[in-house]
Amino acid sequence: MSLNASLNRFLEEYPAAREQQFAGSPVAEFVRQDVPAVIEEMIPSGERYLVHGSAGQRNWAQVPWVAVFDRLITETAQDGYCVVYLIREDFSGIYLSLNQGVTIAKNVYGVGAKEALRARAADFLARLGELPDSYASGPIDLNTKSSVSLGAFYELGSICAKYYAKDAIPTDEKLETDLNEFINLYFLLATKDLLPGIEVLEDDEKSLDKEDLRTLTEHKRIERNRKLAEKAKKIHGYACQACNFSFEERYGELGTGYIEAHHLTPLHKPKGQKITLNSKTDFAVLCSNCHRMIHKSKFVSQVKEFRAEYIV
Ligand SMILES: [Zn+2]
Ligand SMILES: [Zn+2]
Repeated sequence: MSLNASLNRFLEEYPAAREQQFAGSPVAEFVRQDVPAVIEEMIPSGERYLVHGSAGQRNWAQVPWVAVFDRLITETAQDGYCVVYLIREDFSGIYLSLNQGVTIAKNVYGVGAKEALRARAADFLARLGELPDSYASGPIDLNTKSSVSLGAFYELGSICAKYYAKDAIPTDEKLETDLNEFINLYFLLATKDLLPGIEVLEDDEKSLDKEDLRTLTEHKRIERNRKLAEKAKKIHGYACQACNFSFEERYGELGTGYIEAHHLTPLHKPKGQKITLNSKTDFAVLCSNCHRMIHKSKFVSQVKEFRAEYIV
């Protein structure tokens, strides 16, 4: 099914479905499975992006959504920010929005959550700089009936958005262009968001220029991503690929299952080049010493060369 057909079906069938039982609803299943599958086909691969849809957890959501998550920023709609399709509560149309996770903000800021989301949206927007005229920036109107519903928070969490009225959902080609424009903005924002605080840097990293720091932080975030790192370790094993050190051999049970995942993106990649996150080809496993040293060396993405130069 095409995206245009999917969004139309979503708007057509959701109102009636919501009058029926939630458990086992084919429409809820459609939002959870089918729409994300269509969107996955349209966005860059490489395991960086996840697509999820939700029509509610135990009961129907007032504002169902389908979102694209950058795994380096968030893997849920509760925190961070994402690109998301949000349906208006009266089903008169759909927003494509670069929006924020609201659940954690609600917990952290309490009654001040809406103001915090609005302020953060303005801050993100300022970081993106000038946007095309066809983008609406700032709050969107989901026609929410309750000021405490999640929808009321998504309204203020929107950084920028495009609106598609029910009877005027664009062609697939246009939807795909819009979606990829939003993914690019998301990527841009994530890149700008990756500058670390000085306190987390190693001494020899403090002299790096802004661009190199950003790349290094991106690299560290990738390596700290638990799912990706675990998958890489399963594939590559638990012996250092540079020096063969095994934590289990040296430390016994204490070291069982310990090794560090190292991402192979060149730190000096051409600007704008998107990284891929394939656990097999884009990762190596290293002991802590080799990991630290490979970062200092000129072989950061070349384990074999590093090994040849320093180990054997
Ligand atoms: Zn090693
Ligand atoms: Zn590394």
